[in-house]
Amino acid sequence: MKKIEQLKFNNTYAGLPDGFFSHVRPTPLGGAHLISVNPAVAELLELDISDLHQSDRLAMLCGQTVLDDMQPIAQCYAGHQFGSFVPRLGDGRAIMLGEIQTSQYGKWDLQIKGSGLTPYSRDGDGRAVLRSTIREYLCSEAMHGLGIPTTRALCMIGSDEEVYREQIEKGAMLLRTAPSHVRFGTFEYFYYSNRHEEIGLLMDYVIRHHYPELQDAENPALELLRVIIDRTASMIAQWQAVGFAHGVMNTDNMSVLGLTMDYGPFGFLDAYDPGFICNHSDYHGRYAFDQQPNIGLFNLSCLAQALLPAFGTDVDTAVNAAKQALEEYQSKYTHYYARLMRAKLGLQSRHDDDQAILQALLDLMAEDGVDYTILFRRLCDFSTQDSSGNHPLRDLFIHRDRFDQWAQRYAQRLSIEENSDSQRRTVMSRVNPVFILRNYMAETAIRQAQLEQDYSEIDRMLNLLQDPFTEQADYAHYAGFPPDWSQQISVSCSS
Ligand code: AMP
Ligand code: MG
Repeated sequence: MKKIEQLKFNNTYAGLPDGFFSHVRPTPLGGAHLISVNPAVAELLELDISDLHQSDRLAMLCGQTVLDDMQPIAQCYAGHQFGSFVPRLGDGRAIMLGEIQTSQYGKWDLQIKGSGLTPYSRDGDGRAVLRSTIREYLCSEAMHGLGIPTTRALCMIGSDEEVYREQIEKGAMLLRTAPSHVRFGTFEYFYYSNRHEEIGLLMDYVIRHHYPELQDAENPALELLRVIIDRTASMIAQWQAVGFAHGVMNTDNMSVLGLTMDYGPFGFLDAYDPGFICNHSDYHGRYAFDQQPNIGLFNLSCLAQALLPAFGTDVDTAVNAAKQALEEYQSKYTHYYARLMRAKLGLQSRHDDDQAILQALLDLMAEDGVDYTILFRRLCDFSTQDSSGNHPLRDLFIHRDRFDQWAQRYAQRLSIEENSDSQRRTVMSRVNPVFILRNYMAETAIRQAQLEQDYSEIDRMLNLLQDPFTEQADYAHYAGFPPDWSQQISVSCSS
């Protein structure tokens, strides 16, 4: 484990030519103090966190002191936001301090979110508020705990500085990390500014550092597109299976590594509602829960277009190859989703009827507003021995007779499985979480932090969410139904 000043940096992105980023220094936040550190990420970065709260080290963490080996930059990108193309976005409030080279776990971007103005801030103030920082900090770790690829966060820093949103809030910083923060929109930036040479450079960079197995491919651009299609399909299938709505699936928030990134107005489903819109500023439901797989395809099509000049063939050939690659998305997504949902139902073998059984359950859950996470967790205890009408689960439904019918069908399906009830319970409880980050949970931690400067619930939740498949008696209250007040929580893009 190294002290922060001993970390090794290898700033590969800053070695790319002008136009990929801007050199910029973080603007310190007044009264900065460490709110929470994530030991799991510290271990990944091989960082000793024992004295990070000391002012000289804290200054290094929040970019006030820039170490010799750091090369702070803001990355440049474009993106389709709610379907419309914006030619220049970029890190408007995030600054990458540098890339940490670890001895065991590869290379990690160390990025501060909320670090002040950059050349890409447009009308923004370059800041992030405590509320949204807590949400991202907890949710990225919750996703990781659920086994879903995501950016991670090392720590959160609070401050005395006021930041103006719908109301006055406190500014904060999140130390975010990922092997790379390159987005679909990074490719789009160069495509739409007609800088085809840079598309090739960016592609070579992404392949060299993140997909080295593609280096000798006959058409690396096509293979890169295909692997990103695959990873994106898999990531979105995981979102759907766990009931996660991202909320702002703009192409500038889509990672070329297939990581969940840029947590804003996200939400986990409480009651199952396929049309759930977590972002209150998403008036038309473009990013509604059940739209996410389609939006994934739209976003990948934008990426495909931006990669065309790197195909090294004539336009028609490139377009045809890209189209063929995109056609694989739907079947990949369906394959990943079906596999995950079969596992959630405890089905190890495959059967023609599986999709219909799942859909019948989901339809019933939607009609009766049944809690998604609680239903699947309790389904782990389903016993094929229960006589009809006795299933403890039936009280989650309004139409209990219809649930009984479904339960009969499900029990029949389970009878052709080799697993016993107890074996199935063990396997199912590894894929059906007890804990997700419900909005009200984040809100509980936020209110304590905002009103009482009490950050202990953040650490407790972090711990809990890192192990979401294990019942934890001390946190049984977070395993139950959300309280009624949670329906009043409103999350929007303002963060
Ligand atoms: P988002 O949808 O939060 O990922 O942000 C979209 C774009 O707006 C990105 O380029 C962000 O860097 C930028 N942005 C968001 N909030 C701010 C802010 N408070 N100050 C400056 N730029 C911002
Ligand atoms: Mg973003």
